[in-house]
Order: sequence, then C-alpha cells, then structure tokens
Amino acid sequence: MPFILTNSDVAIVQGLLKDGRKSFRQISRETGISTPTVKARFDRLVNIGFIKSISPILDFKKVVYNDNLVNDNTLLQATKNKRQELENCIKKGTGIQLKCDFCRGPISGKTHVFKFATFERFFCCTECRSDYENTYK
Ligand SMILES: [Zn+2]
Repeated sequence: MPFILTNSDVAIVQGLLKDGRKSFRQISRETGISTPTVKARFDRLVNIGFIKSISPILDFKKVVYNDNLVNDNTLLQATKNKRQELENCIKKGTGIQLKCDFCRGPISGKTHVFKFATFERFFCCTECRSDYENTYK
C-alpha cells in the first residue's frame, strides 16, 4: 500500500519547498503542528524516501560562463513549469510508493515497519523484515 500524505505532511513539505533552511520550530510556528510532530513527520518522509534531500535552489541567471551570463530563459522557464506541475500534485491523500528495504520490490500489501529511534525501514512481508533484522543487527 502506498504511504498516504496527511495534511501535516503536505504543510511541512510546502513549508520546505518555499525555504529548505527552515527549522522544525519555524515550520511548527507557521503550521500550528507541534515541533516534535514536525520532526517525526519529517523523519518519516525521509525514511520512506520521499524527501531525498534538502538542496539549494540556485539562480542560474547569475552564472557567468565563458565571460557571458547564462541566460537561457526558455530553458529556465521550462524547468520552473515542470517543478510547479509536480509540486501541485503534493496534497492530502497523495500516495507515495514504498519499496521493500530488503528485497527492493514494491510494497503492495500491508507494510511491515522496523523502527529504532528515528530510524525506520519498510518491508513487503515479515520474512523480508526478519531477514533484514538478522542481516543488520
Ligand atoms: Zn521484501
């Protein structure tokens, strides 16, 4: 089963899309979600592999290359539109495909979770879960 985004997940993701430098406390203030919950939901979004990284957005119009400003507005606009289109899909109820952390297959049935502190792994079946535990303990 896919992981279903909640209103909290959407609020956190949208906050970070606007500015990935925000602290959990800042997101908490903006959304009304408690800081520990923001942290827990963020960790889970990372653990399921949906938030792959927080990376800077660069202003390529300011890049000088071979003594010229890189200024391909068509390319920049296309990239921006694509990003906007994808960001519009992030809403409550959006499903995130989970992959088994042991066999790498898609998780279609019940998700078997292995949790240790903020560390979580997801498995397609109890066998994969116990094989993972035996391999990595
Ligand atoms: Zn598996």
